[in-house]
Amino acid sequence: MTESEDIRLIRDSVRRFVGTHMPREAARKWDKGNIFPRDVYAELGKMGLMGLTVPAEYGGQGVDIPATMAVIEELAKRSSAVTCPYIMAACYAGMNLVESGSETQKRALLPKVAKGELLFAYGLSEPNVGGDLAMVETSARREGNRILLSGTKRWCTGAQIADYVFCLARTGPKEDRYKNLTIFLVPPKSQGVAIRPLDHLGIRGVETNDAIFDDVEIGDDAILGGAQMWNQGWKQLAGRALEVEKLELSAVALGLAEAAIADAIDYAETRVQFGKPIGAHQAIRHTIADVKTKVLAMRLMLTHAANLVQDRKPSALESSMTKLFCCEGASEITLTCQRVMGAYGLSDLMDMERYVRDAISLPIVGGSSNMQKNNIANRLKLAE
Ligand SMILES: Cc1cc2nc3c(=O)[nH]c(=O)nc-3n(C[C@H](O)[C@H](O)[C@H](O)COP(=O)(O)OP(=O)(O)OC[C@H]3O[C@@H](n4cnc5c(N)ncnc54)[C@H](O)[C@@H]3O)c2cc1C
Repeated sequence: MTESEDIRLIRDSVRRFVGTHMPREAARKWDKGNIFPRDVYAELGKMGLMGLTVPAEYGGQGVDIPATMAVIEELAKRSSAVTCPYIMAACYAGMNLVESGSETQKRALLPKVAKGELLFAYGLSEPNVGGDLAMVETSARREGNRILLSGTKRWCTGAQIADYVFCLARTGPKEDRYKNLTIFLVPPKSQGVAIRPLDHLGIRGVETNDAIFDDVEIGDDAILGGAQMWNQGWKQLAGRALEVEKLELSAVALGLAEAAIADAIDYAETRVQFGKPIGAHQAIRHTIADVKTKVLAMRLMLTHAANLVQDRKPSALESSMTKLFCCEGASEITLTCQRVMGAYGLSDLMDMERYVRDAISLPIVGGSSNMQKNNIANRLKLAE
C-alpha cells in the first residue's frame, strides 16, 4: 500500500528511533519491571511527534491523524512503555484540548503537549462502571467558589506520571445519566488525591492505577472548556477525540500484529524440522498467508477511518468497525503466530509472548468489542 511521502518519512524516522533507543532487550526489561523509560520518552519528545495532534498556532506540527496513527503503530511494535505515554500526550491531552479546551487552556497547555512535556491520564472507568460511562459515580459539587470532587477512577493508566487526570464526573442527579456530566482536569499531586497501582496482564511499562479523589478542591479553571462547560462533558467525550481513541487502539493492534508476523516469518524460515524449514510445511505457509491477508485488511481499514477523521467526515461507524476488526484481528493473529513458534512462542526470551499479552487486552479496553458491535448496529439503525 502506498503512503504519502510525509507519512513515510515520519514512519522511517520512528523506525530509526526505535532501532536506536528502544532495542528489544531494553523493551523486555521495561515490560518485566513495569518501567517507564522517561529518558527515552524525553528523546522522542525532541522529535516533535507529540505535536502531530496540535495546530501550528499552538506550537505543533498541525493536526495529522494518519501520521499520529503511523507513530503509534511503529512504537507499539516494540514497547507499550513508550506507546502509552505517547498516546497520553498526543491523543488524551492533544486531541481533547484541541477539540474541547478553552482558549486559555489551549494557550497554556498545547505548546507543552507539542514539546512532549505534558501527559493526561484518562479517568473514565470506575470500580462499578465500565462500558456504561453515563453512570459514573465520581461526583463534583459546588460550595461557594469551590468545586469539591470525590470518587474513585479505576484502570487510570499512567496517573502516577501524568500532569492531569482527565476526570469524568457527575455534576447532578444520576437519573439524568449523560445530561449532567462534567470533565475536570485534575493534577494527581493535588491534595486529596491518592494513586494506587493495579496489576494486570499485558500493556506494561506504564502502571495502571486506582485514582482516588477525596474532596479534592478545584476551581472553574479545571473544567475542560471553561465554566460554561459544566454539565456538557458527554458531548466533549463523544466527539472527535473518541473517534481517535478507537483508532489509536487499532494502531496499537496493527503494530502488534505486524511485529508478531515478522517474528513468526523469521522463525519459520530458520527453524528446521523434518528436514526442512518449518515455513516450507504447507500448514505454516498457509497460516502465514492468512495472517498477512488479515493484517492488510486491518491496515486498509485503519487508513480509511483515519482519513475520514482527519477530513472531519462522518466516521463513527467506520471507527467502531475499525476498532472491532483490528483489535480482534491482533488478538487472533498474535495467538496464531505464537503457535508458529511452538515452545519458543511462550518463552520470555522472545517477544512473541509479550505481543500476545498486549494484544489480548485490546478487544476489552477502550470500549469492548461488544460495545463496538452495539455502536455499529445503532448506527445502522437496526431494531433493538
Ligand atoms: C490495561 C488496561 C488499561 C486501561 N486503561 C484505562 C484508562 O486509562 N482509563 C480508563 O478510563 N479505563 C481504562 N481501562 C478500562 C477499560 O477501558 C475498560 O475495561 C473497558 O471500558 C470495559 O469496561 P469493563 O472492563 O469494566 O467491562 P464491562 O463494561 O463491565 O463489561 C464486561 C463484559 O460485558 C460486556 N457488556 C457490557 N455491556 C454490554 C452491552 N450493553 N452489550 C453487550 N455486551 C456488554 C462487555 O463487552 C464485556 O465483555 C483499562 C483497562 C485495562 C485492562
